[in-house]
Amino acid sequence: MRTLIIEDEHGLAAAIADGLAAEGFVADVAHDGPDGLWRALQEPYDVIVLDIMLPGLSGYEVLKRLRHARVWTPVLMLTAKDGEYDEADALDLGADDYLSKPFSFVVLVARLRALLRRGAPARPAVLQAGDLSVDPARRRCHRGEHDIELTAREFALLEYLVRHADDVVGKTDILTHVWDEHFDGDLNIVEVYIGYLRRKIDAPFDRHTIETVRGAGYRLSSGAG
Ligand code: CA
Repeated sequence: MRTLIIEDEHGLAAAIADGLAAEGFVADVAHDGPDGLWRALQEPYDVIVLDIMLPGLSGYEVLKRLRHARVWTPVLMLTAKDGEYDEADALDLGADDYLSKPFSFVVLVARLRALLRRGAPARPAVLQAGDLSVDPARRRCHRGEHDIELTAREFALLEYLVRHADDVVGKTDILTHVWDEHFDGDLNIVEVYIGYLRRKIDAPFDRHTIETVRGAGYRLSSGAG
């Protein structure tokens, strides 16, 4: 899942980004209001972490302009007790959730996952595609009763495919959501990882659920395959 962190304290922003990357999220960072707003308008993020006191434009202004532009990406606001706005204000301002500084990283991740689930109300917390189940909160994957071990990147790719089950997703969409925007390697990395997934979730079970759609991308079938 792709996250944008808008936070002017460089050390904190980097720590959040590194932590989220270790959890299998893709995390981009902006250090001021205008840059954060621009990125949030340009890129399809799944969730945004937004500090309130920011240079250039406050988090309050960033959020207001995003919603005005009809961007409904869930926003978790970071509030500081000594700031101009407090926690209660964050929700009034239209944030989907807030966390006051200093916060525990574990709590931040749990809140972001909750927002992601809320952001996709049609999909249950544990994602299913036929007898394949993917539990983002626990980072577990099963085919029927069989536990499947995946690396963080494989898991992120599978989660994205399952969230878009039965839809064709392009390689570029996958790169955008599963790798980060600074990835400048070969687009074929997607194909390589699709291959890894097939060897783990399909081949051992004699399935062919990940279909290559020539010239378009891939489709994970939720049928029996
Ligand atoms: Ca700040």
